[in-house]
Amino acid sequence: MFERAGISYLILEKATTIRALGSSLGLDASSLPVMEQLGLLEDFIKVSKPVRHFNFYNEGVKPIGMVDFSDLEEIGGYPAIILDRPAFYNILTKNIPKEKIKYNKRVLTITQDEDGATANCSDGSAYLSTIIIGADGAYSAVRQNIYKSLKAKGKLSSNDAKPLGYNQHCLVGVSKPFDPELYPILKNDYTDFEIVIPKNDPFYAVYMPLPNNRISWAIIQNVPRADESSGDSFRFSEWGPHAAQEMADFVRHLSNPFAEGGTLGDIIDNTPMDLISKIMLEEKFFESWFEDRVVLLGDGMVVPSAGLGANLAVLEGVHLCNLLVDMPSTDQKDITRVFTAYYRQRAKIARLALGNSRQFGKVMGDRGPISQVVRKLFLNHVPAWMSKQANTQRVQYRPQLHFLPPAPTETKGKIPARPQEPRLDWGSRGLQKGSLLPH
Ligand SMILES: Cc1cc2nc3c(=O)[nH]c(=O)nc-3n(C[C@H](O)[C@H](O)[C@H](O)COP(=O)(O)OP(=O)(O)OC[C@H]3O[C@@H](n4cnc5c(N)ncnc54)[C@H](O)[C@@H]3O)c2cc1C
Repeated sequence: MFERAGISYLILEKATTIRALGSSLGLDASSLPVMEQLGLLEDFIKVSKPVRHFNFYNEGVKPIGMVDFSDLEEIGGYPAIILDRPAFYNILTKNIPKEKIKYNKRVLTITQDEDGATANCSDGSAYLSTIIIGADGAYSAVRQNIYKSLKAKGKLSSNDAKPLGYNQHCLVGVSKPFDPELYPILKNDYTDFEIVIPKNDPFYAVYMPLPNNRISWAIIQNVPRADESSGDSFRFSEWGPHAAQEMADFVRHLSNPFAEGGTLGDIIDNTPMDLISKIMLEEKFFESWFEDRVVLLGDGMVVPSAGLGANLAVLEGVHLCNLLVDMPSTDQKDITRVFTAYYRQRAKIARLALGNSRQFGKVMGDRGPISQVVRKLFLNHVPAWMSKQANTQRVQYRPQLHFLPPAPTETKGKIPARPQEPRLDWGSRGLQKGSLLPH
């Protein structure tokens, strides 16, 4: 987005290269119009599959319900799609000049003064910028830096002061290709999420077929909330191949819905072990999103459960970019006005998405007789109109970049998008070129 906006930028990435870790990501009609504006839609469609249903099974792989997402395209003009993370990153990085991404740059601290904000990296290098956007994940170092400073000023809420803990264990991976003759579901042009919820085991499994006969999978276990004081397992808080074997052994007996007698173990065994990640996460909404010249984006301030994060982060990027393009100067006053508007535009939507994701996780992950009844009601007795309403709510915000020709989302979707937030009125100063733009 910054590339197309003409805003000068530099990306500091701590990894030495993008690794094929994780499972998969979902995009839908709320974020795909922007991809169309950026000329990336075709690329995303090519490497993904459209999502049709969520099919639910018990431990004996007997169907116990279904949630229909097939009307998402009719409602919003774009299908919901699923793709693996490396494919997502490849498309983005292909469109960014090589010199704009610096790998092996772990940001440790941030300092700010009237000249700008400086990111100080572990290799001793430092980068001064007008603003810094912390898009560095759920355990964001940028967030930790600004929260330290806000705390010292007595401006940090008690919610934000609490460190991110965990109430979910997730084991995720993407398999190598399977023979579609053995797993005929893989021949479908669409993806149904196949979700197995055992009665007694304390976890559930989600299988998501991908292009090229691969299966992206995730095992999720709800656990009582804990934090770093609970022991050294907290260090598995980053996406990576840690402690995966133990959990893989614990869950492998679960049946899979692809072939009679098949198990989760069959899928795990066809997934390279060093590409299986275990992560412990807590879904959380952080209330402070910025301090002076530093602002957060993505999982840094809203940590959603599996699959939602990319969509939310893209939308946050759209709002922030639209506001920054219009900003008439790099004075702190103008920056604060932009960051405040960014929070106002995004916080309500992000809270709503997080609430829905939490509810879904609870219905699927909790065990016991009450949870079983709730699950049965959710899976079998939700009327069609209610399911359509939920799908409409999901894609009602379809913001676009105001400085590019619009994508034809209005004519594509049956239900009009919510009107986009008005641009900030900068008065006569708005006629000046924003100072973040290169002169
Ligand atoms: C390896 C990996 C695997 C993932 N797998 C899944 C998955 O299977 N399912 C799912 O739903 N979500 C997964 N996620 C999260 C998902 O990608 C995010 O929800 C989504 O991309 C939006 O988050 P984000 O960009 O804010 O953060 P992330 O995607 O987490 O990206 C943060 C980036 O910042 C870099 N970084 C972190 N700290 C620093 C630092 N101090 N200095 C410089 N760079 C830093 C990281 O290396 C990473 O590239 C994964 C994330 C990662 C990094």
